[in-house]
Amino acid sequence: MNKKILLEENEIPSYWYNILADLPFPLDPPLGPDGKPLTPDALAPIFPMKLIEQEVSRQAEIPIPEEVRRYYAYWRPTPLVRAYGLEKALETPAKIYFKNESVSPAGSHKPNTSVPQAYYNKLEGIKRLSTETGAGQWGSALAFACGLVGLECTVYMVKVSFQQKPYRASMIRAWGASIFPSPSEQTSVGREFLKKDPDSSGSLGIAISEATEDAATHEDTHYSLGSVLNHVLLHQTIIGLEAKKQFEKIGEYPDVVLAPCGGGSNLGGISFPFYRDKFAGKRIRIVAVEPKSCPTLTRGEFKYDFGDSAGMTPLIKMFTLGHNYAPPSIHAGGLRYHGDSPIVSSLVKNGLMEALSVNQLETFEAALLFAKTEGIIPAPESAHAIRGALIEALRAKEEGKEKTILFNLSGHGHFDMSAYDDYLAGKLSNYEVTDEQIKRSLSLSKI
Ligand SMILES: *Cc1c(COP(=O)(O)O)cnc(C)c1O
Repeated sequence: MNKKILLEENEIPSYWYNILADLPFPLDPPLGPDGKPLTPDALAPIFPMKLIEQEVSRQAEIPIPEEVRRYYAYWRPTPLVRAYGLEKALETPAKIYFKNESVSPAGSHKPNTSVPQAYYNKLEGIKRLSTETGAGQWGSALAFACGLVGLECTVYMVKVSFQQKPYRASMIRAWGASIFPSPSEQTSVGREFLKKDPDSSGSLGIAISEATEDAATHEDTHYSLGSVLNHVLLHQTIIGLEAKKQFEKIGEYPDVVLAPCGGGSNLGGISFPFYRDKFAGKRIRIVAVEPKSCPTLTRGEFKYDFGDSAGMTPLIKMFTLGHNYAPPSIHAGGLRYHGDSPIVSSLVKNGLMEALSVNQLETFEAALLFAKTEGIIPAPESAHAIRGALIEALRAKEEGKEKTILFNLSGHGHFDMSAYDDYLAGKLSNYEVTDEQIKRSLSLSKI
């Protein structure tokens, strides 16, 4: 049996799968400041028309431009890997497969959407993209894509991460982008925050405000987002479409698909193509795995909330912990978003997707077992899916059942080694929020 199931470059899918065409329930629209559904032209100052069309399209298969497929070929198709080493260590009758998205130049699944986003902006005559980044994964993925298609790129990186993760910033510069620790002197929002607190360590909310102000105040500049939005999840379906082809090659099909969930993009990416079969009656379970410190899908409320902490974005209907929710900074990993993709949220709400939350320590334990048995040091985010797969595999062992498990290895952890150091030094702890804290955050985040 092969370790890796590979596809040829000419087998890179020629379309993305748009789940909006097949959802068996209506999706609540995003709302503008006036409380009315957002019109597409409200987004035109910051997004190209092609992406706005994709955001609301109801066409099931959206063709991938030939040029984007050629860029995808820089690292795609990604391998589907049978985790023989992990199976053996667990002594499980289950077959465990993972899709290895860590092989992209940026080290995660994020270039699957940063590349088409840069491409469509270039096509519309845009000269520069601006964005924010927390831990640096999205900023580096966008810098890579802009370098490839020939766009300028400005990244506002949360100051505390900028100081903690200098090599993410180095990658962003190496690909030719400009990077500013946020709050910065570049924007009026940034200057205002600096006036109030010159030592501000920044936040994702402030960085988003800076990046959107930059785009809104420059004719030749657009804004770009790395998760949550429908068109981002659409681009990520390249993962699941490839995985289906790979399973077809070996005559297998997963019983359960798991992925880590921050904003929902890699989860939507690997799972949506399987929903096409699920909606047609196929028995398959899809599981979102999130940290207990930021339990959006498992303990949040399903309602309209802002997408950012500053309350500047349109209102979106999703599971949320309140837009002011912030998990403690001792917690490693990038699954700290207070909300989730509206599509992912509504799948959970309608009982078509399961959600599981896991603790930090058991997640790092799973990460190290995976590193030892499969060789790859996973991103802490991806380790949540590994933990989930491990739970499934051990249950299969208990029940003496064969089962095929697929999880998404969304990225490697080469730039997260300080989190591994902290874990190995015994400095990390579990953190579970109380019901009171969630209630308080939701009531403080009134819209
Ligand atoms: C950004 C990121 C995530 C979380 O984002 P999603 O939009 O939920 O996919 C997960 N894993 C890695 C490696 C990431 O870089």
